[in-house]
Amino acid sequence: MNSPNADAVSVLIVEDEIAIAETLLYALATAGIAAQHATTLTAARAVLLNLPQLVILDLGLPDGSGLDLCREIRRGDFSASELPILMLTAMSDEVDRIVGLELGADDYVTKPFSPREVVLRVKTILRRAQSVPNGATPLAEPTQRFEFDAAGQRFRYANQWLDLTRRELHLLQLLLQSPGRIYSRETLLDRVWGRDAESMERTVDTHIKTLRAKLRNADPSIDVVVTHRGLGYSVVL
Ligand code: CA
Repeated sequence: MNSPNADAVSVLIVEDEIAIAETLLYALATAGIAAQHATTLTAARAVLLNLPQLVILDLGLPDGSGLDLCREIRRGDFSASELPILMLTAMSDEVDRIVGLELGADDYVTKPFSPREVVLRVKTILRRAQSVPNGATPLAEPTQRFEFDAAGQRFRYANQWLDLTRRELHLLQLLLQSPGRIYSRETLLDRVWGRDAESMERTVDTHIKTLRAKLRNADPSIDVVVTHRGLGYSVVL
């Protein structure tokens, strides 16, 4: 793992065939991923209370189906309902595989599998889980209406990436620094265009107008940029 928290990564393998479990434990350990092993649903439930970061789940277990555990995890029984789940299924278990994916399993591998492939899948799922730490929920919060991608220098708003010019981007960044605060045209001009700019305050109006149109286009239900006559502009969140 490339993550600095690699030591914290722990995978729970739920598999009743000891040889398969040991092969996976070894492959994961070689890749620097700590793993634990449970041979029954009952044992797995106990380990799940320690909140592992991913579960490799066999479906045919001595005391029931892995699908039941999948359902329990997604239902939130272990207070980590988003826990990534990688199913291990027999080639003939197509129905179980489909049910598992419908229940929210992230991926599956069919037996017989190469341990290397499982490790790759585990790494991919963990990377995906880490890159979206809270899923899509923050965007639904009013205060998190905007998401800024610093690397790409772009804003996500109303579930879409905005196609903003450089000035529009800087205007929005500035306004979002203090939602509710009224910025005068003079301040915006100074901060976004710079003191040497030969632009006029009318330029601010023009850019606010295009920025507002793009935001309205993304979400017509709300006007986040507010005009304060004679004073300037602010954003409401
Ligand atoms: Ca089995």
